[in-house]
Amino acid sequence: TDKSIEILQTGKLLASCEAALAERYTVHKLHEEADPKAWLAANGSRIRAHAGSGVQADLMDALPNLEIIASFGVGYDNIDTRTAKARNIRVTNTPNVLNDAVAELTIGLMIALARRIPQADQYVRQGKWLSGSMPLFSELTGKTVGILGLGRIGKEIAARAQAMKMRVVYHGRKRQPSEPHVFYDNLTDMARDSDWLVIIAPGGKGTERIVSRDVLTALGPKGMIVNVARGTLIDEPAMLDLLQNGGLGGAALDVFEDEPEVPSGFLALDNVVLSPHQGSATVQTRDAMGALLVANLEAHFAGEPLISAVV
Ligand code: NDP
Repeated sequence: TDKSIEILQTGKLLASCEAALAERYTVHKLHEEADPKAWLAANGSRIRAHAGSGVQADLMDALPNLEIIASFGVGYDNIDTRTAKARNIRVTNTPNVLNDAVAELTIGLMIALARRIPQADQYVRQGKWLSGSMPLFSELTGKTVGILGLGRIGKEIAARAQAMKMRVVYHGRKRQPSEPHVFYDNLTDMARDSDWLVIIAPGGKGTERIVSRDVLTALGPKGMIVNVARGTLIDEPAMLDLLQNGGLGGAALDVFEDEPEVPSGFLALDNVVLSPHQGSATVQTRDAMGALLVANLEAHFAGEPLISAVV
């Protein structure tokens, strides 16, 4: 505890995380200020840490003594890490503690899409069962799943997909010799050979729309796509078009290009399962993410090595 250390939040955080921060430091909440610009001009130079996510160069400009950005989440595509690095500002994220929750949701979305569980629930609620029966759908068993991004979360998805009796293949920038699964250096080739394509690589410039119309077309009319990474990885208009016109079998989507806005076309489709970016959204995982964020700040201010640094 050192209340002389002043830190900044620019958005609401998990309650347990906010409480832990307030116990240790003097916390300012920019999102609760009537005039954030004026507040930054008057107080910005006292801020030594940012807690939360989404920090661009303009905010760093306003915080000349910022030492560390402790981000809540593993993806840091919404932080300008280049500028941070150039200014000697450390950046931490919350990897690993959310792997299981995201992998669980991924398998859940896959079964939900394959068996149309949300639609089946509506079918019962709306009394349609009394006068008919649902059509027959597909299953995961025996299918090939191509994982785009066999990283920390991707490996947990792979293990669970194998438990579903699926064959796992993967694509990334490099082969991982210690992994038993077949590697594709070409994403379109993997899509052509897969029944399911699961996207779990980072967002940002390096992966923008790598799931192009060509990749989606290669996945094909029976192909199923699952995105639990970032909306930016897929050519979203092309995906919608193919879903509407039978060029793609189905989609389960936790993330969108312009979330929380979801293109209305998706809402009308029966071969789509929608989810509000809730990959890590369980009590136990969010608590662990908050604890890791706080632990990184504590390590920093104690002059100890950071636990999970990206810069
Ligand atoms: P990791 O860094 O452990 O894994 C990322 C994987 O993506 C690596 O295997 C990497 O392999 C691959 N990859 C990276 N860049 C490229 C590229 N340009 N082309 C192809 N493959 C690439 O990350 P995590 O598993 O911890 O997290 C992955 C992402 O999941 C996060 O960045 C985040 O955006 C998202 N996420 C979403 C959540 C949700 O709520 N929906 C929750 C948590 C995370 P290689 O190096 O060989 O290319």
